[in-house]
Formats: sequence, structure tokens, C-alpha cells
Amino acid sequence: TSVVNRIAAGEVIHRPANALKELLENCLDAGASQIQITVKEGGLKFLQIQDNGHGIKKEDLAIVCERFTTSKLKQFDDLSRIVTYGFRGEALASISHVAHLTITTKTADSPCAYRAAYVDGQLSAPAGQNSDPKPCAGNNGTQITVEDLFYNMPTRKKALRSPSDEYNRIVDVVSRYAIHNHGVSFSCKKVGTMTGEVQTNTNTSTLDNIRQIYGTSVSSELLFCEAEAEALNYSMKAYISNANYSMKRTTLLLFINNRLVESDSIKRMVDTVYTSLLPKGGHPFVYLSLMIKPENIDVNVHPTKQKVHFLNEDHVVEAIQEEFLKILENAND
Ligand code: ADP
Ligand code: MG
Repeated sequence: TSVVNRIAAGEVIHRPANALKELLENCLDAGASQIQITVKEGGLKFLQIQDNGHGIKKEDLAIVCERFTTSKLKQFDDLSRIVTYGFRGEALASISHVAHLTITTKTADSPCAYRAAYVDGQLSAPAGQNSDPKPCAGNNGTQITVEDLFYNMPTRKKALRSPSDEYNRIVDVVSRYAIHNHGVSFSCKKVGTMTGEVQTNTNTSTLDNIRQIYGTSVSSELLFCEAEAEALNYSMKAYISNANYSMKRTTLLLFINNRLVESDSIKRMVDTVYTSLLPKGGHPFVYLSLMIKPENIDVNVHPTKQKVHFLNEDHVVEAIQEEFLKILENAND
């Protein structure tokens, strides 16, 4: 069964950036305002993420890496998450099947932090040692360390690109979350370096973060767009590039209900809006945050696909398209 579990885990965790996305979402779910990421060899050797969120209760440490554990947890009170994305409780379990996972965590009401190591979903320790969580020093929050990713899946490891390519993918994921979560400070760096690729603060705005990450040439060309439609049950905020500004390739940052996702229909719509506006070969920058009634989201999508479908999709996307066109027209009158 451990082979079956490993294969299933490999379906959820494709590469370092994808493990990181899951870990980042957990930090944000835990209410963190500060998230620090440290990476070695593109995350294949070492990937660490430290947050100042609510931590994990000591009693829960034994089961956090079991599959579908979410509903069993002591502190499970966030029902909105179930409604939004269907609780999955698969990320930590999956990572523990394809890497060495260590959690150090402290809740505010605990006098000390606890550290626990996991293999294949279970607490683990070197032979002859007790695998119970060990008390240790630590700040409130959680630090998760993933080491030797795919150590037991050599073919998967081989299929990945270079560490620097994997690192770029990690930076891309962190950048997107940093832009969406202004009010949370993010940093992402390689082990042993002082300055990171991403560095945002708690007091910077969305636009500040876009400027910090993508540069002034992008941020100064953005138009703000905001809309809400009760009949279609959605609201949205967006920063979209002006018609006279084009990039080498399309940059689409899409968040639906605060989750980084993909949507074919939104991607097509963005292409449609800009093809007639931009010179041939030019591409737009679009950051779109869409809120949809949780019950209108199709939660039965495969966890790896990140592709989302929702009720009245065509109508909602069309409405957003009209908003985009309106803003672009006004700006270029
Ligand atoms: P899910 O997020 O779908 O519940 P995960 O496997 O990602 O499943 O995480 C399992 C559980 O571990 C979470 O529900 C949460 O209770 C706990 N957890 C994971 N990461 C953190 C974190 N950074 N801070 C606090 N709790 C966490
Ligand atoms: Mg999670």
C-alpha cells in the first residue's frame, strides 16, 4: 500500500512549486501575516516555510499528515473552507509520502513549541527513538520543512527541469500569492542568501506589490476595475494593463475565492479582449480576483488540475469581459 500511496501522492504533488502552493495556502488558512520561504536546489533538496499563524495543537500533530484528516482535527472550525473547496486534507499527507517532512509549531496557549517528523503519513523517528512530538523552543506559528522531495520516486525527480527552473516556478507562485495577499508580508530566498527574490511588507498595497515584483513599467500601465452583480452572485477586482502596453507573454493572475486557480473560459476571454487591442504578438497583464458564492463552485475538480468551474460561468465571464472593455475604452477615449 505504501507504493499505492506514493503514486497517489505523486498525482497531487508534481513538483516543488506545487508542494509550496499547498503549504502557502495552509499558512494563509492559519491567519498568518508573515510568511518566509527558504529554498535549496529549487526546493528538491530543501523547502522551508515559516509562518506566524495560529499553529497546530500538540494533540493534532499525530494525525495532521493522515489523508483526509481535516475533519478529525481538534481545531477544525473553519466550515467555510469545506464549502469553498471541499475539504481535501491531502497536501501534508501527500508530501509525507514523497519527501521527509518536519513540522515545528506553537499555538499561542502552549508554553513551548513541538517538533515532529513524518514518513508516509505517520510520525516517525530514527530506529530506537520515540516518534512523539518533542518540546522545543519556537515562536507562535508553524514551520514546515520538506527535504529530499521525490527521494523515493527517482523517475519523477529525473523528469523535472533544472533546480533553477524549479526555483523560478516557486518564485512565481510566491509572487502571485504576495500580490493577492497584500497585508501579509512574504519573503522567498535561497538558503544562505541575504536578499530574496520576493520581499513584500504588511503595509504595501496590491499595486505596490505588483510594482515590487513585476516592475514599474508594468504597474504604471495598469487600470483598476471593480464590479459586483447580485443576480450573477459574483464580485471582482482587477488590475489590467492598458491597451497601449504589451508584454512578451500573457501574465494572468487569477484568484477565485482567494485560491490561485486556472480557468479556461477566463483565459479565453482575456485573449479575446486584448487580441483586437494590442499589436500582433503583444500580450496583456491581468490580475483578477473573483469572489463567487462558495456553493456555486464545482468542488469536484481533480486536485491537481487547479481548474475551476462555476455556476453560470458563461454569463459571469461575459459580464467581466464587458467591465474590462468599458475600462479600456474609457482609458483610451
Ligand atoms: P487541508 O488544508 O485541506 O485541511 P492539508 O493537508 O493541507 O489539508 O493540511 C492538514 C491540516 O494541517 C490543516 O487542516 C491544518 O489544520 C493543519 N495545518 C497545515 N499547515 C498548517 C499551518 N501552516 N498552520 C496551521 N495549521 C496547519
Ligand atoms: Mg491545505
